[in-house]
Amino acid sequence: MKLTITTKRLELKHTWRIARGAVDSKEYNFVTLERDGISGHGEAAHNTRYDESTESIRSFLEQARPLLESANPWHFRDLGREIQVLANGQQAGKAALDMALIDWVCRALNVPYHRYLGLDPEKMPATSYSIGIDKPEQMQERIRDAAAFRVLKIKLGSDNDEAIMRAVREATDRPVRVDANEGWRQKEQALARIHQLAEQQVEFVEQPMPAGRLLDVAWLRQHSPLPLIADEDVRSAADIPRLAGVYHGINIKVMKAGGLQEALRMIELARTFGLKIMLGCMIESSLGISAAAQLAPLVDWIDLDGNLLIANDPYRGVRIEQGRPVLPATAGVGAEPAGE
Ligand code: MG
Repeated sequence: MKLTITTKRLELKHTWRIARGAVDSKEYNFVTLERDGISGHGEAAHNTRYDESTESIRSFLEQARPLLESANPWHFRDLGREIQVLANGQQAGKAALDMALIDWVCRALNVPYHRYLGLDPEKMPATSYSIGIDKPEQMQERIRDAAAFRVLKIKLGSDNDEAIMRAVREATDRPVRVDANEGWRQKEQALARIHQLAEQQVEFVEQPMPAGRLLDVAWLRQHSPLPLIADEDVRSAADIPRLAGVYHGINIKVMKAGGLQEALRMIELARTFGLKIMLGCMIESSLGISAAAQLAPLVDWIDLDGNLLIANDPYRGVRIEQGRPVLPATAGVGAEPAGE
């Protein structure tokens, strides 16, 4: 296979702010794998939270080049494994290669990935739409702009949480989920916040405390009126067994997992442990979002809105209808370059 690596700058429609910082644009690596006149596409939506950068992902992709260029794509299961063990971390780079590989295979078979997996595209949950941290009146405006979405995800974890939630509930009575992004440092403080959120009809709380504080989260779970969902505490399948009994559910992302094949393994393992499953995303183009959405019929909740934050999306793929992503019937992972 021929591997091509390109870098694209994605401009955001609005400054995106969460508990740990703010951004206006993202510069990501994209890959294509070509053979027999067929191209498979992949995206590396890296995250600095996991020690990934445009440069570190690029160098991982170059490291992977000899493996990909000599590999037989039809042996994609073995190849997926070989990609996983090439390096520690750099999961977004692995995800890009695995995505391009699966896209290539499904295009060669002329089948959409969800169909290859035997999934019913009608079993698509409504996606939440995320509202980043901002002044309460700005967040109210974003909530009004998001009228097409049935569920909202509110980012908390700043000093302004109470004022934000009052403003949110003034603006909408739609279902609301909260993501603290590790922002609450003390378990007692976290529990007090969660009790307030329960009174405001919040559905669940994602990653209330810094990753690694599992004893504190287990204590929280005993007292919490709301389900607790791990995000920064879970990356790959190996993290899942120790989270059972600590969290009620986990947020799986293709970019954290290092690919569609590993994300699928995680979904199956999480089910074995009785965990609820949310399928989430980074800020990603329609390529990464469409690929993730192929797995969505398998999960309880989805938060696949990262492409909607981008002003110059280089791909087109899933579209939103009545708050749910609609999977295209085209072969592959469901996205095409926007120019074609
Ligand atoms: Mg999160």
